[in-house]
This record gives sequence, C-alpha cells and structure tokens, in this order.
Amino acid sequence: MIEPLEHLNQRIVACERCPRLRAWCEDIAREKKREFMADNYWGRPVPNLLPVPPQTHDRKLLIIGLAPAAHGANRTGRMFTGDRSGEWLYRALNKAGFASQPTSHHLDDGLTLSCCAITAVCHCAPPDNKPDRFEIANCQEYLTQTIEFFKPHVFLALGQIAWKSLLDYANAHELLSSQPVKFAHGATITFNDGRSGLASYHPSQQNTFTGRLTESMFDSIFAEAHRLLEITDRPS
Ligand code: SF4
Repeated sequence: MIEPLEHLNQRIVACERCPRLRAWCEDIAREKKREFMADNYWGRPVPNLLPVPPQTHDRKLLIIGLAPAAHGANRTGRMFTGDRSGEWLYRALNKAGFASQPTSHHLDDGLTLSCCAITAVCHCAPPDNKPDRFEIANCQEYLTQTIEFFKPHVFLALGQIAWKSLLDYANAHELLSSQPVKFAHGATITFNDGRSGLASYHPSQQNTFTGRLTESMFDSIFAEAHRLLEITDRPS
C-alpha cells in the first residue's frame, strides 16, 4: 500500500494547477544554464523531501521553504539540492543531526534526513523567486496535507512568506490563541495544540551574501528547533 505522504508526493509531481509556473519550469528545463548543459533537468513540481525510514514515532521537524530554485531543485528534483541556499541548509542540518551529510548535490548522493522533512510554500520554481498569491493559494492544499500526514511537532518557516503560510494554516485550523506573531529571525509561536512554530531568515544569497544571515545565526535556529522538539507536546 502506498503511504499517504508518498501518494501526496506523486500528486504534487503531477500537478498542473499553475499554468505560469508550469510553463516557466519547463522552459528553464529546456533552455538550461550553461554550467548545467549536460544535466537532465527535473522541470516538474518538486516533491516533499521525507525522512528515511519514515519515523512515525519520533518527534519531528517540518521545514517550510519558499519554492524550488530555477537551476537548483527545478534541475535536480530534490528540495534545496544543487544551489547555494541548499549548501547553507544542509550544512546546518547535518551539524544539528537532522541530515546525514552536509552537502546535497543530486538525487543519488546518499543524503537522508532524520526526524525532519522539507516542504515548500510552492512546489514549482517561480520567476524571480516570486510566486503570486493565487499560486501560493493553489499550493496551500499540499502544505496542509503535508502537515496532516507528517504530523510534525515543530515547524520551521524559512522566510516571511513561509511564515505567513504557516500562520494561514494555523488560522484556518483554529490553532491561533493570540494575535499572529510578526515574522523575525528567531520568532516563535505556540499553537493551541501545543506545537511550536519557529521563524528564520531564508538562507538565500540575498541574505547570506549580505551578512543578514550568518552561519552562527542559522545554527542557533536549529539549536532552538531541538529545544522546542524536546518541550513540545505530541500533536493530537
Ligand atoms: S506551484 Fe503547487 S499548485 Fe502550482 S502547479 Fe506547482 S505544485 Fe501545483
């Protein structure tokens, strides 16, 4: 029998709801970047990256990114794989014990996640890294189902848009007991069911090249994620 999360991934990969994004991803995959001319681009919606084995009983972290990068995950077919943001993310995840290795280059590089999954607000790469609000709304159903099936104890939103999508989910499911917390690096929120949300600057080049996000700042987020995992109640 196909597990719900695997079935969800199959539906994500086959999705065609956003014509602008689907056309753009396919164009990028056809035209390619000079340094990746020899690669067969994925060019489809990028599925959730799940832990192996599935880990149904451990306390789990769900990382929510924005969207695949045009020549990163849209090329390799795996979240945060093959781009600079991924270099930052997997270095930190490996250091914190959530990933088996500090690098993520391609689907067959041996990387596995532990007690952690990676999803995105949009599963298709958008032009200029900016999905529009209709595209975000189209993809919100997949975020909802990812949360329902994966049952994370702690959420980590990378960037303001991911934070908003997480709060939208919480609002729609009556999990907010107070005013939504404003996005800030290190901001946290406790939901009605005892689970926790944590916000971080996105490890995009815009943040890492400018020093807005440093490695120690990013490492401290995963230390906080571990702390929250230890104190957060199991979701019902
Ligand atoms: S962004 Fe999401 S909803 Fe839109 S086509 Fe891609 S997978 Fe489907």
